Amino acid sequence: MKIKTKKTDNKLIHLCPNCNVSEGKYHKINCSKDSCVKCRKKRQYCICKRAKREPFIYKPTCLCLRCGKLHFKMFMVNNSEWKRVVGATYDFKKVLCENCYDEIRKFRKIKKGFRWYPLHGA
Ligand SMILES: [Zn+2]
Ligand SMILES: [Zn+2]
Ligand SMILES: [Zn+2]
Repeated sequence: MKIKTKKTDNKLIHLCPNCNVSEGKYHKINCSKDSCVKCRKKRQYCICKRAKREPFIYKPTCLCLRCGKLHFKMFMVNNSEWKRVVGATYDFKKVLCENCYDEIRKFRKIKKGFRWYPLHGA
């Protein structure tokens, strides 16, 4: 996902990557990032009546659990390799940067398997 920001009074403000509203504002109607506070579903699929809207608040989608690095190049490995590398230490569904992943893989003496890179923005 692309990160959009703007600069106002020397402050960096995050913008919704989809509808471009500033952080803290409500998403525009039909923004796909707009979700319902009540059911947590995307607004488009929510059927709650008069449910509160969720303002856009920036949340990093690509944050390495081990080193805290943001927005690194995403990589994919097969599930069984990932499971063996994260072991009992990390949440299976969380993200690691490639560097950290390889370091942990070496600690565990697991061979490097097939790896692919999803297109940017996926
Ligand atoms: Zn939005
Ligand atoms: Zn809802
Ligand atoms: Zn890392």
